[in-house]
Amino acid sequence: MAAAVGRNGPADRPAGPGEELPEEYWAALLNDAAADGGTRSPPIRARPLSDIGRHVLRVSCTRCGRIVEVQTADAVRLFGPRAVWKNVGQRLLDDTCPQRTGRHEEDGCWPAFD
Ligand SMILES: [Zn+2]
Repeated sequence: MAAAVGRNGPADRPAGPGEELPEEYWAALLNDAAADGGTRSPPIRARPLSDIGRHVLRVSCTRCGRIVEVQTADAVRLFGPRAVWKNVGQRLLDDTCPQRTGRHEEDGCWPAFD
């Protein structure tokens, strides 16, 4: 019995080294789970880029109506595989948003994810 201390057996899924999820991921996950009443698989916006099985990602702005598309591979190159899509989408929109008032609470886009 003593030999088993510290190991509770294999995890359900095999996980390679260095695959801890970033904090934002869990924060987003918890927020969304609370909002959805506890769904199991996270919505696409709450996933890290490396976890999204799409070639093209799309985010639209509910404020200025623009749609920004990015290849997942490009997004990974720019922001890293662990960046959460909703943060990346916000950045992409903010970089090109025409709504620049200079006031923090009014500035920037309001992203809407598929
Ligand atoms: Zn906008």
